[in-house]
Amino acid sequence: MYEVDNLIGGISCKSASGRTGDIFNPATGAKVGEVGLSSPMELDEAVKKALGAYSAWSRTPPLKRGRVMAEYLRLANGRREDLAREISREHGKTHADARGEVSRGLEIVEFASGISHFLKGEFSREVGPKIDTHSERQPLGVVAGITPFNFPAMVPMWMFPMAIGCGNCFILKPSERVPSSANLACELLYEAGLPEGVLSVVHGDKAVVDAILDHPDIRAVSFVGSTPIAEYVYKRGTDSGKRVQALGGAKNHMVVMPDADMDQAADALMGSGFGSAGERCMAISVVVPVGEETSKRLVEKLSPRVSSLRIGPSTDDKAEMGPVITKESKSRICGLIERGVSQGANLVVDGRDFRLQGYEDGYFLGGSLFDGVTPEMEIYTQEIFGPVLSVMTPQTFESAMDLINAHEYGNGTSIFTRDGNAAREFSRSIEVGMVGINVPIPVPVAFHSFGGWKRSLFGSHGIYGPEAVHFYTRLKTTTSRWSDGITKGAVFTFPSG
Ligand code: NAD
Repeated sequence: MYEVDNLIGGISCKSASGRTGDIFNPATGAKVGEVGLSSPMELDEAVKKALGAYSAWSRTPPLKRGRVMAEYLRLANGRREDLAREISREHGKTHADARGEVSRGLEIVEFASGISHFLKGEFSREVGPKIDTHSERQPLGVVAGITPFNFPAMVPMWMFPMAIGCGNCFILKPSERVPSSANLACELLYEAGLPEGVLSVVHGDKAVVDAILDHPDIRAVSFVGSTPIAEYVYKRGTDSGKRVQALGGAKNHMVVMPDADMDQAADALMGSGFGSAGERCMAISVVVPVGEETSKRLVEKLSPRVSSLRIGPSTDDKAEMGPVITKESKSRICGLIERGVSQGANLVVDGRDFRLQGYEDGYFLGGSLFDGVTPEMEIYTQEIFGPVLSVMTPQTFESAMDLINAHEYGNGTSIFTRDGNAAREFSRSIEVGMVGINVPIPVPVAFHSFGGWKRSLFGSHGIYGPEAVHFYTRLKTTTSRWSDGITKGAVFTFPSG
């Protein structure tokens, strides 16, 4: 049994709140640790440390801030395996999947190490007689991030490298279900030379989230999690005058056109629908084959693949997916499958009865496949966030796009086709923030930005990449005249060229 403590300004501190959260191994169902659930006072302590560090850090030359990130990248690269192990131990995803998560997170660190380039600003000479103007982006001050369970290290890395690289101080509130890898990721940044106070990790639940949202010295909040909480965080944070970006849930569709390679599409659906037990915000949860014939061919390919998924604990190198995160999550997913059946969908593969020998108390589920799903069914309207794939069959390409555009979420989507015109029209017209063409999980690379549309993102900035520079800085424009002391006397008209 282990305990996970806060990291206030770089110093490990046990929470004094007297409240703790249990950490479970999802593969066995056993309690393995506890995390302190911090009080608002403990958050305030982290904010005070950050305020103390801010002036010096924000004035540190960007090149030097970038060098801290470059050193962090070097150190974290050497600890990839440890980071991945911490992730899988608490989350349950396979070790290979956790390694992939670490790689994608470190790509953001690599991008942040070149932060100087993005903070260069703009300059215009002679905007008037002897007058020049320059624009620069200055950091905001103390900013915070609140992250979900499903990417315990990568989503924090979506935030803190860019925020800190831009010259801010950062407070991270990780998911209380998977707190350890965030601590390791942040400790390594101190090892890389980050000055004390610039980064803190404050563990906790709603009490500390509310304290972040209300704290007068926190200027901006990045949130990633479910849509109801994202909406709450956005409203409460903006009401208290903060800049907020809140990324929420998803229902990601993959259109399969009649001309697609069905084996390629089915393989892509297996990885994107069942990888990480479907607990990815970019997981494909609805497949939309166009026309009955395409649907029949695809379901024939999918059904045996779903039935033979290899499921196991993260320590099983051959496992394709692990357990879901909690007992409650497992029973919520089973409840939704039950409602899918009672609302008339055809359950082609039922994963509810899956049992893994030796891991009977783990939160394992087999893969499930539904056919004949219709738009009003709960398995379609709700984000299941589990290993369940639904098939919906519109008759035309246009009605497939209408279906996707009508959904409340707009995170990711994809089309599998050999038809360039259809792909081009899809990418142009679909009301979704991230689009894949023959790519099932189109998560943008670190030098682009990530963000959904509609109720998958509250706020006007995507996360990481160039959008992060805009989110974590504010624009200042200075106009200056150096005119050798020549004065023409007072001018009362509005200045113009
Ligand atoms: P969640 O919304 O339950 O929790 C996210 C964070 O909010 C956690 O840190 C948690 O402690 C905090 N929180 C939970 N309940 C709260 C409350 N009532 N008040 C204040 N704070 C609260 O999400 P989760 O279950 O950890 O993660 C899964 C969800 O995250 C899914 O909906 C998934 O789609 C979404 N997600 C979205 C993206 C994206 O980029 N859009 C990425 C990853 C995950």
